[in-house]
Amino acid sequence: MTILNKPFSTPYNTAPFSKISTEDYLPAFKEGIKKAKAEIDAITANTESPTFQNTIEALDYSGEELDRLSSIFFNINSAETNEAIQKIAQEVSPLLSDFSNDITLNEALFKRVKVVYDSKSSLTLTTEQETLLDKKYKGFSRNGANLPEAKKTELRAIDKELSQLKLKFGEHILAETNAYELHLTNEEDLSGLPDGAKEAAKQLAESKEKDGWLITLDYPSYIPFMTYADNRALREDLSKAFGRKGFQNDALDNQDIVLKIATLRFKRAQLLGYKTHAHFVLEERMAETPEKVTSFLNELLEKAKPAAIEEFKKLEDFAKELDGIDQLQKWDSGYYSEKLKQKLFDLDDEQLKPYFKLENVINGAFTVAEKLFGLQFEEIDTIDKYHEEVLTYKVTNAEGELVSIFYADFFPRAGKRNGAWMTSYKPQMIKDGKNDRPHISIVCNFTKPTKSKPSLLTFNEVTTLFHEFGHALHGMLANTTYPSLSGTSVYWDFVELPSQVLENWCYEKEALELFATHYETGEVIPMALINKIKASATFHEGMQTLRQLSFGLLDMSWHGVDPTAIKDVKAHEVEAFKDTSLYPDVAENCMSTAFAHIFQGGYSSGYYSYKWAEVLDADAFEYFKEEGIFSKTVANKFKTFVLSQGGTENPMVLYKRFRGKEPQPEALLRRAGLLK
Ligand SMILES: [Zn+2]
Repeated sequence: MTILNKPFSTPYNTAPFSKISTEDYLPAFKEGIKKAKAEIDAITANTESPTFQNTIEALDYSGEELDRLSSIFFNINSAETNEAIQKIAQEVSPLLSDFSNDITLNEALFKRVKVVYDSKSSLTLTTEQETLLDKKYKGFSRNGANLPEAKKTELRAIDKELSQLKLKFGEHILAETNAYELHLTNEEDLSGLPDGAKEAAKQLAESKEKDGWLITLDYPSYIPFMTYADNRALREDLSKAFGRKGFQNDALDNQDIVLKIATLRFKRAQLLGYKTHAHFVLEERMAETPEKVTSFLNELLEKAKPAAIEEFKKLEDFAKELDGIDQLQKWDSGYYSEKLKQKLFDLDDEQLKPYFKLENVINGAFTVAEKLFGLQFEEIDTIDKYHEEVLTYKVTNAEGELVSIFYADFFPRAGKRNGAWMTSYKPQMIKDGKNDRPHISIVCNFTKPTKSKPSLLTFNEVTTLFHEFGHALHGMLANTTYPSLSGTSVYWDFVELPSQVLENWCYEKEALELFATHYETGEVIPMALINKIKASATFHEGMQTLRQLSFGLLDMSWHGVDPTAIKDVKAHEVEAFKDTSLYPDVAENCMSTAFAHIFQGGYSSGYYSYKWAEVLDADAFEYFKEEGIFSKTVANKFKTFVLSQGGTENPMVLYKRFRGKEPQPEALLRRAGLLK
């Protein structure tokens, strides 16, 4: 038995990183799965008739050891990995998915769950318990547990085919991305690119033993070129190569795969008794129905379109004046937008960075949390870390009680994946009358300090820190009974509310004055700079909104209908884009055949949620602004009705309890400058 299969005798029961060796993980997982299975077997073997406690509750509390070691392992695999750990991840993942399938397909277990579910009306349950019961029941029914045997077999076949098609879809895009390169040997062709981007292009060429420069379809290479390269013909080449992925009628073509995926999802939904795939997905979302999503998107479209058209006209005039461009094309959008932005705002990161020393920004986030929620962050050195750069804190409330343990890991390293995220090492739950507090972590990849300079953040990094810190607060302030409903375990289109709402404080004078001070002089950031930040944040908001809405509408056009009649992917797409396109269509390009979010990842019928979350956060923050951005009353409501509640109730109910009414899009439109 490994150290991971025993109670940790550590301060606050924190993960014993220094005592775990890589060899421990695999046996620990095997043992953890064995124990979790035994716990499930104990539920099904129970001779007493099924009750909420002996079945639903027991199921939710089961597998605690396995969950705990999974979170430690997979967090390490993201933040401090190496080949050995990656190899274990590959071995462990199928074991875990087999285990979770064993639960979903466990008929004896479902039978007991169903007995409890069917007697729901006669049970005395708390709201949280009712939610848990629904969630557990649906975990089975949405996977076909209620279907007769033949249809179950059909469902499994669809699932299998879908997962293969999704894999293929992704492989094709990856192969197309890797197959293309723009090889430049004349330095003039890189005119306009910042030094960093040029350098990267040169290094890329060197790594492939080529002379000159290489540009690829990977974002870090593609985006700077489309934004800065003066050579319009090359931008056109690159843009068209990007847009052709999966749409070249060759072995890597995705058109058939798109049609098949949409059709199979529709069939699957019908098999389970839903009208469309979107109806199936949205049953477990705040937005509830495809009709609501579509009218939400169209309402925003109506408001954003006039602004978008106006912005487009101005951009066209600007490009005409600057370079005599008669018809703006897709490959001009990033380039001229950036030029216009520079002209209008003259704002770059170097001006702002001295005001955002990392330590000051962290303290700023902590001060905001203290002013809003009465939280205290005390740095501690008594608990284990997985890397010396990780900062560790004990978080307490105004009464001095432990709220959470908080880890913060800020700088890039070889073993860390890109991006920024919040995660947890231990969930919050109430078990046997004891409120077990969570261990929350944020991981980022921020600018590192150098010998002569501390870590100075770009403004984008500042908002990222607040964003992840908002997720972290959702985790830290969790106060629910059941672990699967705790903290950020909420509907997908609700989870970004706490994170996005926190970003708003980064734009407010009252908040910036608390932490945005020059690292050398101590001078508070000048108001003129704050105003520029705000103004540039809404630059081209109309066009950007239109673009986001177009993706959401395309998503719904594939998943909110019966797609069996769709035969031509491109024609279907052109029709779906008809109300949202500003640039001329490029006949040889197609979005759907490379729209990995919805055809490979988990965003099908969910793309709208980006805008949905923005509406929520803008509406919520407007409430703060009405009462003062540090209003204790509003903060307390936010904590009580949203942050502490996790997924215990329908998010619309929670939100209304906080706000007093349903979220309205006007706040977002106002913030975006789209409401005059
Ligand atoms: Zn987020």
